[in-house]
Amino acid sequence: MSTPKQPLAGIRFIVAARQSRKPRAGEKVEFPIEAQDGRARSWAEAEGGECVGLAADFKSGTVAPWDRPHTREWVSETGEKIHDYDAIVATKTDRISRGKDEDFSTIEAWAVRNQKKIIIVGPDGGIQYPARHDSDFWQWTATKRQARLEWESIRERSMNRQADLRARGKLSGGATPFGYDVSGTKYDKTLKPNDIGREWVPQIFERVKKGEPLAAIAKWLDSEGVKPRFGQKWSAKSIAQIIRNHTYVGQRKADEIVNGKRLRGQGVIRIEVEPLVEPTLWLAANNRLDNAPRGGRRGPKNWQPALLTGTLFCGNCGAPMYRLKVRGEYVYYRCHGHLPQPRGCGTLVTESLLDSIVDESMRANDMWVYEWTFEPGEEAQIQAEIDRIRLNLRDLPTSGLSDDDEDAERERLRAVRRELESQIADARPDRWEKGVVLKDDRTPLTEAERWKNADLDGRRLLLREYRVTFAWSEERTPIVTMAPLWAVSETP
Ligand SMILES: [Zn+2]
Repeated sequence: MSTPKQPLAGIRFIVAARQSRKPRAGEKVEFPIEAQDGRARSWAEAEGGECVGLAADFKSGTVAPWDRPHTREWVSETGEKIHDYDAIVATKTDRISRGKDEDFSTIEAWAVRNQKKIIIVGPDGGIQYPARHDSDFWQWTATKRQARLEWESIRERSMNRQADLRARGKLSGGATPFGYDVSGTKYDKTLKPNDIGREWVPQIFERVKKGEPLAAIAKWLDSEGVKPRFGQKWSAKSIAQIIRNHTYVGQRKADEIVNGKRLRGQGVIRIEVEPLVEPTLWLAANNRLDNAPRGGRRGPKNWQPALLTGTLFCGNCGAPMYRLKVRGEYVYYRCHGHLPQPRGCGTLVTESLLDSIVDESMRANDMWVYEWTFEPGEEAQIQAEIDRIRLNLRDLPTSGLSDDDEDAERERLRAVRRELESQIADARPDRWEKGVVLKDDRTPLTEAERWKNADLDGRRLLLREYRVTFAWSEERTPIVTMAPLWAVSETP
C-alpha cells in the first residue's frame, strides 16, 4: 500500500475567499463564501494542510482585495493574526489581486518579507509562491499574466463602449466645457451652446487674439459677474483651457482607441457640436498663446520608463529598486527600502551598467519559451447565463406583459436560474496547459531569440517574468541574479 502524497503536510493555512453577496447598507450579515472557496479549503486539507481561518470579503472593483477589511486583519504586518498561519490558499488569484501588476508586487514582497506561501489550487500542492521549482515559477507567472489579461479585457470593454459612442458622434463622458450644456439621454448625449457661451466665448477668444494677458481677461470676466464652469473665480489657467479646447470650433477632441488601447493625445475625432467661434479666430488665439512668453522649465521629453522597473530588487535587503535621476550626467537604480519606511539601504547602480548586464545575460539565454494556455471551465459561462436571467427578471416589469403572463414568466425564469445555480457547483474548473512556443520552422523559440526580436516595451514586458536582483560584492563587482531559472554572478 502506498502512502498518499501530502504536499501541504504541516502547513497552517487560511483561505482567501469571497462572500457570495455584498451586504446592503445597514445590513449586519456575513454571507456564506462562494462554493469555489469552500472547495479550495477541502482541497488544501486533502493535501495535508490545516485550515486555521477564513479571510472572506466581498468583491469590489475599486478596493484591492489586500486592502479589504477581513483580508487586511489577517495580512497586516503589525497585527496579531499574521503569526497564526504559514500560507494563504486561494481558488484563483482574483481572491487576492485585481490582476494589476502593482497588486502582485505588493503581495510577492509581503510573502517574502513575512515568509508566507501563496498557494493557488492545482495539482501537486498547487501553484506556490515563492516557487519551489520551475513549474511553480512558470505557472505563477502565467497566472499573473492571465489575471492581467482579464483585467485589461474588462477595461477594454468599457473603452470600446466609449469608442462606440464616439463613432456615433455622441458625447461620452469628459467635462462639459464652459458655455455648453449637455442635452439628450444616457446613450444619446450631445453638447449644445447656451446663451452665456454665445455671449462670452467669442469675446474671450478676441481678447486673447489681441494679446491681452490671461490674468487681465480673468479679472474682466469676474468684474462682469460671469461664473466659470468650476469654482467662483476665473484664472489664467481656466482661460487658457478654453482657448485650447477644440469644442469651440465644433470638434470634440477625443482620444482614438485602437485595439482597446487609448492613444493619448493622438487623433482628433469630430463629433456633433455646434461651434461658438470661427476656426480663423480659434487659430489666431491659439497662435498668440503658443508664442506668449512662458515661465517655468519643462522636464525632458521622451522620458521612457526604465527597463527594469517592477522587476528589480535589492540583493542586499530585498526591497524594490527604482530609477532615480540625479542632477548631472548619471541615472541610477536605487534601493527604495521597505514600506512603510521608504528608506533604502544605499544600494545604487547606474542604469546603463545594469541594463547592459541584463541585456548581455538575456542574449545568452537559450532556455525555451513556454506558454501556458488557459482552458476556461464551464463556471464562467454558467455564471454569464445566470446574470442574463437576472437581467431579464429585472426588466420584466417593463416588458408590457399582462399581470398573469408576467407572473408566469417570472416563475419560469426563476426555475431556470435555480437549475443553473445548482449546475455551477459541479462545473468543470478552469485549467492551465503548458506548451513550448514553436517558431515557423517548428523548432522551439528561445528566450534569447525572443529578447533580440523585442523592442524596448517588449523587453520590459518580458522581464516581468524574471526577478532580477542587484548588489555590489565586497570587491565592488556587480552581482546580478535573474531568478529563479538561472543566475548570473560576478559579471565584469
Ligand atoms: Zn536595499
